[in-house]
Amino acid sequence: MAYYETSRAPGRHFLQIPGPTNVPDRVLRAMDNPTMDHRGPDFGRLGLEILANLRRVFQTEGPVVIYPASGTGAWEAALTNTLSPGDAVLMCRTGWFASLWQEMAVRLQLVPQFIDTDWRRGADVDAIGAALAKDTAHRIKAVCVVHNETSTGCTSRIDEVRAAMDAARHPALLLVDTISSLASIDYRHDAWGVDVTVAGSQKGLMLPPGLSFNAVSAKALKAAESAKLPRSYWDWRPMLAANETGYFPYTPGTNLLYGLDAAVKMLLEEGLVNVFARHDRHAEATRRAVRAWGLEVQCADPRHYSSSLTAVRVPEGHSADRLRAVILEKYNMSLGNGLGQLKDRVFRIGHLGDLSDLQLIGTLGGIEMGLRAAGVPHRAGGAQAAIDYLAGNA
Ligand SMILES: *Cc1c(COP(=O)(O)O)cnc(C)c1O
Repeated sequence: MAYYETSRAPGRHFLQIPGPTNVPDRVLRAMDNPTMDHRGPDFGRLGLEILANLRRVFQTEGPVVIYPASGTGAWEAALTNTLSPGDAVLMCRTGWFASLWQEMAVRLQLVPQFIDTDWRRGADVDAIGAALAKDTAHRIKAVCVVHNETSTGCTSRIDEVRAAMDAARHPALLLVDTISSLASIDYRHDAWGVDVTVAGSQKGLMLPPGLSFNAVSAKALKAAESAKLPRSYWDWRPMLAANETGYFPYTPGTNLLYGLDAAVKMLLEEGLVNVFARHDRHAEATRRAVRAWGLEVQCADPRHYSSSLTAVRVPEGHSADRLRAVILEKYNMSLGNGLGQLKDRVFRIGHLGDLSDLQLIGTLGGIEMGLRAAGVPHRAGGAQAAIDYLAGNA
């Protein structure tokens, strides 16, 4: 049985997990073109156009590397291109994804120094500043932060992280994971002095999984000249050399690149400022629904609220996974599960990517009906609170 035959429910499935996200028809149609010769004369033009437009999405003038890999590959590329075995790295463990990146760093023979949080807020900027100020010998070679922690719905303030690094006059590189924030939440690679930005295709970029990215600063390129971690597939140098003419050193994900071309054009046509405002507005409507239900948002600091997803705590003694199962069964909607220490404690509402007001209201309506069906204590009126907010803020 093919994957699309498994669901007998009428209407469209609601894919409201925080990635992969809904892929717009225009992107699907773009990918539905014959695969072309990736070394032929037409390909270079397409490659150059995509690379130029992509820089605007990262808000950088510098190079952006595209890998045919999930986001995890771009994590590895960021570390192996810039660091050497035994290097100390300062990592902010803000949630599940930050912890996975840190585990990768250990496997790559880096020596992470942690700054932990309670998974209810973004990175602790004061603690970063203090750790760097103490490191007078400059043993710490990189600071790693996940911009938007997809497991908790908390967004770290990268501008403030940069300011803390500058105040400490510390030369460490700044490596930032934007896999669930790029093209959803304002993010400025150049203005914030980020050295490597890690991103993926399947979240704000509205594509299927399969592509990931590194935006690279001049300082990171310099670090790559002396970095000693073994790297081959992930090496920026052959990639950047081939990209000069719009080509790739190995077979690129040709049809995913057609989709990327379409997705980036859609984002630029809407205007990044409008894309960010749309996400902010949907996030605020979602939080109003959660509060009206009498439930609690996982993020405890309003300055760190995420505009790409909202993690919602279920009342003590109730199962978030059972609620999600009921909603899938009765209403044909997928919501994100709780990860790590939040397993079964939260469900996550993805409101990033290609999403309209009506899709969001459908999502919140489905959750409200699901809360009722699953017997989770709540007040009615969450979806109405979101309608009131959206209708008043057209
Ligand atoms: C989804 C995600 C990842 C993992 O990316 P994959 O594409 O699954 O490898 C890493 N970090 C963050 C913040 C994410 O949201």
